Amino acid sequence: MTADPATPLPSHRQQPDAKGFFGPFGGAMIPPQLQQQMDEITHAYHRICRSHDFIRELRSIREHFQGRPTPVYYCKNLSQEIDGARLYLKREDLNHTGAHKLNHCMGEALLAKFLGKKKLIAETGAGQHGVALATAGAYFGLPVEIHMGAVDIAKQHPNVLRMKILGAKVVPVTFGAQTLKEAVDSAFQAYLVDPVSSIYCIGSVVGPHPFPLMVREFQRVVGIEARAQFQAMTGELPDNVVACVGGGSNAMGIFTAFLDDPVRLHGVEPLGRGPTLGDHAATLTYGTEGVMHGFNSIMLKDAKGEPAPVHSVASGLDYPSVGPEHAYLSRSGRTITGTATDEETVKAFFRLSRSEGIIPALESAHAVAYALKLAKERPDESILVNLSGRGDKDIDYVMENYAALADET
Ligand SMILES: *Cc1c(COP(=O)(O)O)cnc(C)c1O
Repeated sequence: MTADPATPLPSHRQQPDAKGFFGPFGGAMIPPQLQQQMDEITHAYHRICRSHDFIRELRSIREHFQGRPTPVYYCKNLSQEIDGARLYLKREDLNHTGAHKLNHCMGEALLAKFLGKKKLIAETGAGQHGVALATAGAYFGLPVEIHMGAVDIAKQHPNVLRMKILGAKVVPVTFGAQTLKEAVDSAFQAYLVDPVSSIYCIGSVVGPHPFPLMVREFQRVVGIEARAQFQAMTGELPDNVVACVGGGSNAMGIFTAFLDDPVRLHGVEPLGRGPTLGDHAATLTYGTEGVMHGFNSIMLKDAKGEPAPVHSVASGLDYPSVGPEHAYLSRSGRTITGTATDEETVKAFFRLSRSEGIIPALESAHAVAYALKLAKERPDESILVNLSGRGDKDIDYVMENYAALADET
């Protein structure tokens, strides 16, 4: 199944099928009592997302609370410096709370309100999803419980404080590697205790059906805006669209609008310290098919076939699987999978900060690092990067660990 990466797949509009499959990937491999809940959420979602009340309220929230539309920005200085491709950013870092995650959190919380749910439960990695959901909980007056690995709690202290200030309960997860994968396990356990009055608000296009579908639909506003904005600015479509891929929500958000276009779509995975298992989280690059957290996808496994330990300088990309639609689009050849190492990422973090006055999240800096490499290969083309979040949360970590790289850029 390999196609020219710029060729649309004829069938993607029908994806996923009624059972949540994107080709062989996706589905819902979950306990029977949860299946009933998922079916209910699926039916309710399909009904509610078409209702005028829901659409009107979500649009109003996006405009008046989130600050949408976010701009597309031409990086004049950086494009000049690299003397090659033209670089553009979709400024999701300018969303209220500083990342694209509020797009799906406000949607999920609004859905929870329409469903009459009494509590929002979620996991968080870098803390961005936790902060975004805590924000949504405050907005709608719904209690929020966030599960977070103890390692990430130590690394992302300001986001932990933000969640507490916003009134959310933060549950530290102290088993396993104490990062994102364990946080998902822990949040699922909490949700299973009372799946009727609570709802699990997944933080990316992962998990059992219908979450990969719902989160993609709530994020697709990014691509719809970016496509129109880019055309208004330049009179054409971008040659390349680049986004970092953890679970894959910001990437699906922007890719979805370009699937039918002759545009190369690049998903960038964290190569961390290098290609040895345990040193990276480059799932599509090194992984194989498998089931985790209730869905079939590509995942990184250890010798026993269990989810492997992963590493990335960006906590939000530290996940040993990937959204099923990404697995499908990458294996079918519609998207290109690239990587950026920790070091390339931190250099890009400083470079964008100094050239353009924009401090990117370490997650987003992966996409910038890859775009800088792509710019050398394709000097005549345009590259639109989804700048998924801002880097305020990362400044202490970067300066404590990588201050030496600041002057190398
Ligand atoms: C969480 C996060 C990501 C990774 O999540 P996706 O679902 O892959 O988008 C990327 N960028 C930022 C800023 C994040 O907070």
